[in-house]
Amino acid sequence: MADKIPVLKERKNFVATRNACKVCSPLGGSIAYKGIKGCVPVIHGGQGCATYIRRYLISHYKEPVDIASSNFSEESTIFGGEANLSAAIQNVITQYKPEVVGVCTTCLAETIGDDIGQALRNYKAANADDKSIPEFVYSSTPSYQGSHMDGFHETVAAITKTFATKVELNEKVNIFPGFLSTEDLRMLKDILEDFEIDYIMIPDYSETLDNPVWDTYHRIPDGGTSVEDLKMMGGAKASIEFGPVLNRGNLAGRVKNKDLALTGAEYLEKEFGVKKFGINIPVGITQSDELFEILSDISGKDIPKKYTMERGRLIDAYADGHKYVFGKKAVVYGEEDLVIAMTSFLDEIGVEVILAASGGNSGILKNEIEKCAPVHGKTTEVLGDLDFEKINELCIDMKPDFIIGNSKGYYIARELNIPIIRVGFPIHDRIGGSRLKHIAYKGAQENFDKICNAMMEYKQENSEVGYKYI
Ligand code: SF4
Repeated sequence: MADKIPVLKERKNFVATRNACKVCSPLGGSIAYKGIKGCVPVIHGGQGCATYIRRYLISHYKEPVDIASSNFSEESTIFGGEANLSAAIQNVITQYKPEVVGVCTTCLAETIGDDIGQALRNYKAANADDKSIPEFVYSSTPSYQGSHMDGFHETVAAITKTFATKVELNEKVNIFPGFLSTEDLRMLKDILEDFEIDYIMIPDYSETLDNPVWDTYHRIPDGGTSVEDLKMMGGAKASIEFGPVLNRGNLAGRVKNKDLALTGAEYLEKEFGVKKFGINIPVGITQSDELFEILSDISGKDIPKKYTMERGRLIDAYADGHKYVFGKKAVVYGEEDLVIAMTSFLDEIGVEVILAASGGNSGILKNEIEKCAPVHGKTTEVLGDLDFEKINELCIDMKPDFIIGNSKGYYIARELNIPIIRVGFPIHDRIGGSRLKHIAYKGAQENFDKICNAMMEYKQENSEVGYKYI
């Protein structure tokens, strides 16, 4: 633990956002596009937007992340960016030979009102004889109206609406996992395979953003969900969607036409009658049980022994470690769906969440936390639309025993001399951020151990005499 840093006593009042507790919308959209096989994301706007997004993603995933840009100039800002978008798409097709091009808009493109759908139709019409033209999909992701999560979910919904068609009923199950780590996605796929469920994951960036070492550079990384599979979504026997907030944030959540705000699974249910199961992100025992029960119902199979054993070991660990965590106070921050799921898990292990904070602003955070954290949910301070400076000020007043969230909160933990448990995105100051486990019994085990050990380490580091054994 770092030496104690003096807490700043005087803080000036600010009206602007300082150190936002969210990232930009097309960044989330680009991650979703990375989950489609053979897809290259194109950011329609200034060069700097794509550069920032690439750098930010590379820093977390430690992988090459190619994202193209339509590279706005002063001229495109005034007269429209269609010519730039066409040139960007042409370059991407020439250099990458993609199966899909996924376009996200930026603040600038949205402000001038570029019509991306029309621009893509024009491009297709102008190249009607070219057999190498890939599939196109686009999502509206103005960052001034939303966060990376809004961008992510807008793009997932756009992918669903673009590719799902009326097909014959099949035995597949659509999985909308939301924004999980690549390791979470791999664990989820293992679970589905253990239930012998034939799934379509939307999106699946478990390989594209976390590849093994290559002998030669791959312009487009292996992995992702194929367009052929995406076209089967409309005939699936069920959809499972994680998270109650999804795209009910600032983008789709504010539109008057509620059909435009449908999530991927809601759209498939409305258009094709695919039954939707909606659950929280399965973090902790209670929420994981719900997932396993749904999978058991859908597959008609018992929960494999491997998972009942993992669950049993987790309960045993809760009993072993409860004395280190019971009654501790925590601040949770990050994306709304992750904050909800983490708060439920912490409530389950006896930790009191005194502040649940997010840069998201769906308006349903408080209600969802009260539903899934029966012990402390009603007394948890729940605040959306926060920045890290405000979270820092609240932490100084509330004096948590630890904070839990992404690496951007590190400076708060350092200032208060308390542990930070790193979960979620981004993890910029550690190796393995993309391999963190959050979901199912294994994810709960990992986080429970981390919290217990952080409490013990804190006591050791801050004891006057030190100790070897508690
Ligand atoms: S916030 Fe807007 S201007 Fe800034 S990087 Fe994101 S899209 Fe570009």
